[in-house]
Amino acid sequence: MIEYENLGKVNEKLFTKYQEKFDEILKSGWYILGKNVSGFEKDFAAFCTTDYCIGLASGLDALVLAIDALDFPENSEIIVPSNTYIATILAILRNGFKPVLVEPDISTYNINPAKIEAKITANTKAILPVHLYGKSCDMDPIMAIAKKYQLEVIEDCAQAHGALYKGRKIGSFGIGCFSFYPTKNLGALGDAGAITTNSKDFADKIFSLRNYGSSKKYYNDRIGYNSRLDEIQAGLLSVKLEVLEDITNHKRALAACYHANLDDRFIKPVVDQDYFDVYHIYNIRHQKRDELRAYLLKNEIKTEIHYPLAPHKQKAMAGILEGDYPISEEIHETTLSLPISYFHTEEDIMQVITALNKYKG
Ligand SMILES: *Cc1c(COP(=O)(O)O)cnc(C)c1O
Repeated sequence: MIEYENLGKVNEKLFTKYQEKFDEILKSGWYILGKNVSGFEKDFAAFCTTDYCIGLASGLDALVLAIDALDFPENSEIIVPSNTYIATILAILRNGFKPVLVEPDISTYNINPAKIEAKITANTKAILPVHLYGKSCDMDPIMAIAKKYQLEVIEDCAQAHGALYKGRKIGSFGIGCFSFYPTKNLGALGDAGAITTNSKDFADKIFSLRNYGSSKKYYNDRIGYNSRLDEIQAGLLSVKLEVLEDITNHKRALAACYHANLDDRFIKPVVDQDYFDVYHIYNIRHQKRDELRAYLLKNEIKTEIHYPLAPHKQKAMAGILEGDYPISEEIHETTLSLPISYFHTEEDIMQVITALNKYKG
């Protein structure tokens, strides 16, 4: 059986280092906001080429706190892709603002910059691009539109740690919001997230917001949260960050294997020299996706679907997200995520490719 994912196997090489780090933190007696959190923040900011990183409790919290800290007025609108994971939309709704959906480009699956301007109103305050599956959005036109209309840019980087756009790291264009959910390319052993920014003022607001809106103990300046990154998760993340480049290179090699050998009747991710993709997910598209998935399972190959139902079709969004998003729906109906984990070998991937190329459908 070729598994889709197995986090035990992903982390196997790190077991000894994790154990040592854990013992060190256990014995230190210091479990919240200590040197492991500040150390990871420093390392991850350097990795993202930003001045600051603020460790948080989750990726959703990174998005929620980023939007909160921007102090937008009531009735603000935020532009967001229609085919994102629900967390991106929830972060806007949790702040009481309106998500305005923009269709993706059918070849990159990322927000189509050519469709953004038509959705801008006097209430628009920000664009929230999502670097889906590990590919950066087309940032030049997005940054140009943001500048023209004086909009903030909040990047959902949850799936794209280390991805580049024209040589520049994602998370360094606007305010970067990261998730370290265990399956993400840089995954913790529990929930964790972070924000990256070049603004000291903004970083200070997030440092305060994550800790009850307080920068001086027992004095509260803002309506805050408890969204602190744990010392243990931070310590383990620093260990993992050391191998992130290796993880990325491994996934890129497996993606190249699919790209070179998989039949063109399966729609593969686009490869473009302006983009350095990190392949959190390697998806193909096929008109009879569900049959294809069943065929692969019969051939002992597990796959996933990211995602089966578009946000505007979710029960929770009834009466909230309106309109038709046919490109999004097309993607949700035809996309299939193939195995591409750190523990997979090229032989595993060739086995998936052989099965797919033999498929008569
Ligand atoms: C994983 C993910 C999130 C949420 O991250 P959590 O750490 O699970 O809260 C947000 N946006 C996208 C695109 C994601 O993939």
